[in-house]
Amino acid sequence: MAKRDFYEILGVSKDADKAVIKKAYRKVALKYHPDRNPDDKEAEEKFKEAAEAYEVLSDDQKRARYDRFGHQGVGGGMGGGGGFSGGGMSMDDIFSNFGDIFGDIFGGGGGGRGGFGGFGGGSAQGRRPMGRRGSNLRVKVKLTLEEMANGAQKKIKVKKYVPCDDTTICHGKGGETSTCTTCQGSGYVRKVTQTILGHMQTTSACGTCNGSGQMIGKKCSKCSGSGRMYGEETISLDIPKGVHDGVQLTMSSKGNYGERGGPPGDLMILVEEVPHEHLQRDGNNVIYKLYVNFADAALGTSVEVPTIGGKAKIKIPEGTQAGKIFRLKGKGLPSINSYGTGDQLVEVNVWTPKQVTSEERVLLEKLRDLHNFQPNPSKKEKGFFDRVKDYFNGE
Ligand SMILES: [Zn+2]
Ligand SMILES: [Zn+2]
Repeated sequence: MAKRDFYEILGVSKDADKAVIKKAYRKVALKYHPDRNPDDKEAEEKFKEAAEAYEVLSDDQKRARYDRFGHQGVGGGMGGGGGFSGGGMSMDDIFSNFGDIFGDIFGGGGGGRGGFGGFGGGSAQGRRPMGRRGSNLRVKVKLTLEEMANGAQKKIKVKKYVPCDDTTICHGKGGETSTCTTCQGSGYVRKVTQTILGHMQTTSACGTCNGSGQMIGKKCSKCSGSGRMYGEETISLDIPKGVHDGVQLTMSSKGNYGERGGPPGDLMILVEEVPHEHLQRDGNNVIYKLYVNFADAALGTSVEVPTIGGKAKIKIPEGTQAGKIFRLKGKGLPSINSYGTGDQLVEVNVWTPKQVTSEERVLLEKLRDLHNFQPNPSKKEKGFFDRVKDYFNGE
């Protein structure tokens, strides 16, 4: 029988660290321990196999050799005690060689509780993940105009399915996993069929384990075997500048965690604009409605207007008509996918007093009939549609 892959024997990924390997070994060794499996030849073999795998993978040098050359790299005189390759080792030999480990394993229990070691990663290529993919999630994020203009870093809390936090057997997979006995963990089965051209060999996903190479043994009681639980994750968002209300950003793999170790879904982030106190957005431009009084419009003045970046001073020339639009170049928002930045458009409104005192009334009565106060729009005085045209042409 061909030797099985050491990583596979322990059920760890190729990049698993020592703590993960040790924990995995502990699990396998406990499962196949001769005390628990009296007179079970297969268990004994598995127990030895695991011990051999651990001997190699727990030693940096041997592991490096194994990674480069496979079983041949470590097959010969391994360790000081004598090679495993002969296979004729007795249990006693194993116990004497690995006394320290077993002391740890069968000693006080407890031990170091690592975080998630190597769950999720397929150790061999071509294997399918075990469980079902998690669903996508949609969240809203509210942004001010300033944040949309400059981009923003946001931290949001997302309620969602996260991997089950049981680290004894589950590790987000739903329970104790073991190598699939149908496909020996490869995830696929070969079938030889007879055709007119001779024997044809086809490879298909293993039906027993759905191509994952792993089978669930004892179910995790914490998550009832689903491998996940409802929880919360704080996610850092990097919002690019130039987004606008209604834009949806996608963060892959930040959605719901899958069932039984399946890959997570995506997180969709829907951008919502927080209305600005003074400014209105129109595409990449922002609009500001400025109110000036009649005297300022007639005589000219300079005013401060709010912009996205702060305040800006603009000059109102004398004789400014209501409806005039001033353009502050580049004071709008950047566009998300091309160069260029919008403008701020300042629309002038002339404030008409809603009530007047008797003193004001006297003054206004004096102005009422004066020559220059009579409306006299020249051809230059543009109508509404011309102003709209200017607006689009960028006057
Ligand atoms: Zn299988
Ligand atoms: Zn669980």
